[in-house]
Amino acid sequence: AKEAGRARYEVFDSLMRAGAVRRLEIVNDLHRALERDQFVLHFQPQIDLRTNTLIGVEALLRWVHPDRGLVPPMEFIPVAEETGLINELGRWVLRAACQQGRVWLDRFPDRQPLVMSVNLSGRQLGQPRLADEVAAALEDSGFPPHLLVLEITESVLMNDTATTIQTLEALKLLGVRLAIDDFGTGYSSLTYLQRFPIDILKIDKSFVDGLGGTNLEESAVTRTIVSLAKTLRLETVAEGVERSEHVRELQSLNCDIGQGYFFARPLDAGALTSLMSQPDTP
Ligand code: C2E
Ligand code: CA
Ligand code: CA
Ligand code: CA
Repeated sequence: AKEAGRARYEVFDSLMRAGAVRRLEIVNDLHRALERDQFVLHFQPQIDLRTNTLIGVEALLRWVHPDRGLVPPMEFIPVAEETGLINELGRWVLRAACQQGRVWLDRFPDRQPLVMSVNLSGRQLGQPRLADEVAAALEDSGFPPHLLVLEITESVLMNDTATTIQTLEALKLLGVRLAIDDFGTGYSSLTYLQRFPIDILKIDKSFVDGLGGTNLEESAVTRTIVSLAKTLRLETVAEGVERSEHVRELQSLNCDIGQGYFFARPLDAGALTSLMSQPDTP
């Protein structure tokens, strides 16, 4: 038994080492990638469920790796967070998103202006300079603050309340809106909804998945979140909308906005520009 235990330990240990080496490689690669401009944003449409119109996009980061092609964020954002590189990367994302938002405003002056949603990591929120950086990104691009939404996951709000509230209040003073991402998945106490200056709840895909069936229990969480949001005067965005049945039930629940493969996958800037140029895109 002792022998088996040691063998297992050695296997585990070598996996850990591989993990550390791999991580270091990724960190080096990420630094170089920033220098070489290898990041791009893709933009996933958000649809007003009442009017069926395109009203906004969520900016989603991609790494255009010279050998590996498009690398999804889950493969490098956790490492970037651990090592603090997320601050630099996040700054780039904010600037690139605001710039692209401004380009679309100028290109489509007759369309309803697109709302631009940007993800913030917990580490960024702990940065005292975050509000200044957001202000600079807005000012340099000329993107209007009221069209910018910053998405924060629920778990981040539970971390360090005093500093977090201060940072969020500073962001609100700029005129941007704040959304809670993946709402309902954290170990949360709902009291933070009153303490934090939140504007939008994004209902996690795991709850949206249960919609459209005959089982009332499966839609209970979404129903409850939408009704809570109405009471608190928050906007609701449903994530991971994949089926027409999802859309129908979300509409009957009066959820405000839908986002998911049913409407569109994340698109590069060119593809989204073409989409907006089509006369039949509402
Ligand atoms: P998220 O913020 O919850 O973003 C939604 C994710 O769900 C995206 O994955 C999107 O492509 C995917 N998705 C959208 N609609 C559907 C659908 O109908 N079905 C399914 N199965 N998936 C759908 P993506 O782009 O791989 O991003 C994953 C996560 O990486 C994001 O989750 C977010 O937490 C993080 N992320 C992405 N970009 C950034 C960024 O610029 N900064 C930070 N800090 N995190 C980012
Ligand atoms: Ca998000
Ligand atoms: Ca989400
Ligand atoms: Ca998520």
